[in-house]
Amino acid sequence: MRLVLLGAPGVGKGVQGNLLKERYNIPKISTGDILREVINNKTPEGIEAEAFLRSGKLVPDSLINNIVNKRLKNDDCENGFILDGYPRTVPQAEFLNEILSKNSETLDKVINIEIDENIIIKRLSNRRICLSCGELYNMLTDPPPEDGVCRVCGEKVIQREDDKPETIKNRIEVYKKETQPLKEFYESSGLLVEVDGNNDIRNIHKNIISLME
Ligand code: AMP
Repeated sequence: MRLVLLGAPGVGKGVQGNLLKERYNIPKISTGDILREVINNKTPEGIEAEAFLRSGKLVPDSLINNIVNKRLKNDDCENGFILDGYPRTVPQAEFLNEILSKNSETLDKVINIEIDENIIIKRLSNRRICLSCGELYNMLTDPPPEDGVCRVCGEKVIQREDDKPETIKNRIEVYKKETQPLKEFYESSGLLVEVDGNNDIRNIHKNIISLME
């Protein structure tokens, strides 16, 4: 099962990816989480990526393609994977096709989640994340425990720098310009399934499953 989750920032790719990961027992690979980790660890890749994330721009294709190429070679991807936040540009999608085809593999489905733009802004500004394990919270619907530590790993839950209002608008613009063309890209290869993200988490999950099975 090789899946891609597509959609604007804040549509719920991370949460749906976690549910799919549990259901199919395959890793969810979030390129945003990987980038935040390398930035935290101040690796050369992290140092290169930091300013892009801070301003809500995409990191260069070559940087993220290298990261994903390495990650997909891990043993845990043998039975498949769920990509969350990658590809985000047409050249990234072409690169992904290339590395999969080297192993005679293809994607099974690309799940595109759509929600209204005003809901995106509300969700992103209320989102909180555990920087250590990536667990997601929402201050309105699913807040972190009162002591502000993650329910999964006990580390600190924070607001992402790029979930602040100044950067959210920029990220939505970047999505429209760079990532939206991927819908057509995957539609033309017959892989795209569309899911309405204006629904509660469990219902969206059920819809995804029924579209896939
Ligand atoms: P996310 O957690 O998916 O919202 O990603 C956070 C940030 O990481 C994005 O705003 C980009 O700066 C960067 N990023 C994540 N995935 C990619 C990608 N596939 N291509 C380029 N930049 C990315």
